[in-house]
Amino acid sequence: MTIFNLGSINVDLVYRVPHLPGPGETIASTSFKKGLGGKGANMSVAIARAGSRCTHIGSVGDDGQWTVDTLASAGVDTRHIHRSLPTGHAVIYVDDAGENSIVLNAGANSCVSSDVVAAALAEAKDTDTFICQNETNLQAEAAQMAHAKGLSVAYAAAPFSAEAVKAVLPYLGLLVLNEVEAEQLQTETGHPISELPVRDIVVTLGAAGCRWYRGGQRRDFAAIPVTPVDTTGAGDTFTGYLIAALDQGKPMEAAIALAGKAGALMVTRLGTAEVIPTLQEVTEAF
Ligand code: ATP
Repeated sequence: MTIFNLGSINVDLVYRVPHLPGPGETIASTSFKKGLGGKGANMSVAIARAGSRCTHIGSVGDDGQWTVDTLASAGVDTRHIHRSLPTGHAVIYVDDAGENSIVLNAGANSCVSSDVVAAALAEAKDTDTFICQNETNLQAEAAQMAHAKGLSVAYAAAPFSAEAVKAVLPYLGLLVLNEVEAEQLQTETGHPISELPVRDIVVTLGAAGCRWYRGGQRRDFAAIPVTPVDTTGAGDTFTGYLIAALDQGKPMEAAIALAGKAGALMVTRLGTAEVIPTLQEVTEAF
């Protein structure tokens, strides 16, 4: 089966700095690295490395061909990534204490066209899966289209916006969010997360593992104990592996267990998309 991922593609510009610059301050960086990023791109790489077929739906600028090539070399189908504004990017400062500050420029990520979504989903079967996150436009429209075609629809509620979650909610079979996002959503809706009208809800809790809600029942999963080096991309890796495992027919318990292993291995690695582990690495590690 195929997982259609409407998702962001960013150029991550990562500067190591002695301290985060204050207002009006100019400082020199001690190193610089450019890489593929964006929640959507990270998830597509995770899905492909988990062994599932992934078709990425998105938008980059003419300057972003290398990001498309990087996704393709990870095994992602890139035929439905079209060209619009300059590629989205993130300027990331990381100081000596590991603290960071990030400025995002959505760029082409906010210019995905309905025609591109429709052309991609025209290839979908009702056994396929659709996922999106909150870093592109057209999330609700695409989720509605996928739901109408009978696909399983999943949503990773990050970066969090209650409005964005509410817009896709009627189409969802699976909602994945972290603890902070879950609390924000409960505050916004005035209802416990377990009462949302979504079949499966998974709340990730970092080093404390995750919680799965279905039919008013809650089940807790412990994390694999590891020594974290860099937690960037753990959530995207977890979610990518989770839907890939479900796509491959695993029951939810087994899919969560695999996703937890992939997330744990990811936090032992420095970097984002390029270091997302393969299925073989995950199964050999734990
Ligand atoms: P991010 O935004 O940093 O990508 P997130 O907040 O969306 O992450 P987390 O809850 O931090 O997501 O992590 C997702 C999953 O990865 C967790 O549910 C857990 O299974 C695994 N994980 C994350 N951090 C750790 C850790 N320190 N040790 C073991 N497993 C971890």
